[in-house]
Amino acid sequence: MVAGSEANRRLLERVAEIYKWLDLQVCSGGDIAGTCKSCGDCCDFEGFDHRLFITPPELMYLAANLDSGTVKPMLSGRCPYNVDGKCTIYEYRFSACRIFCCNGDADFQSGLSEAILEKLKSICLEFQIPYRYADLAAGLNSLAGV
Ligand code: SF4
Ligand code: SF4
Repeated sequence: MVAGSEANRRLLERVAEIYKWLDLQVCSGGDIAGTCKSCGDCCDFEGFDHRLFITPPELMYLAANLDSGTVKPMLSGRCPYNVDGKCTIYEYRFSACRIFCCNGDADFQSGLSEAILEKLKSICLEFQIPYRYADLAAGLNSLAGV
């Protein structure tokens, strides 16, 4: 469990560092990282036949950066943060959102996913948070209490 505001602050800092590292890897990946046109189609998981998995530190990071302090439930096949095709939490989006690109190289993406999950697992260990690898709906809904 994350006890105290100092531990919470450090945890959020670690997630921000991991995202920074990840964005750099994607940015320097060039063509193999793919080129996203920000159409938002892949945020409709049913329509796109796509799945996205998230972890507790990522959810905590998102919740801490939202004015409401809590996340939205996911009540359909589309991510609740996709509004009119745009990501409304772009700066705080999950690692899988940062990695996935529909025209990127699958091996590149899977290597990055493995690396980032190791980092997220180590945060869970350090801050004694149970590690879970949940699909987006399950993760959002469990935190939103749905
Ligand atoms: S990864 Fe592809 S489907 Fe998803 S938003 Fe970018 S261009 Fe659209
Ligand atoms: S967080 Fe943003 S990028 Fe990720 S699935 Fe939701 S709307 Fe799409």
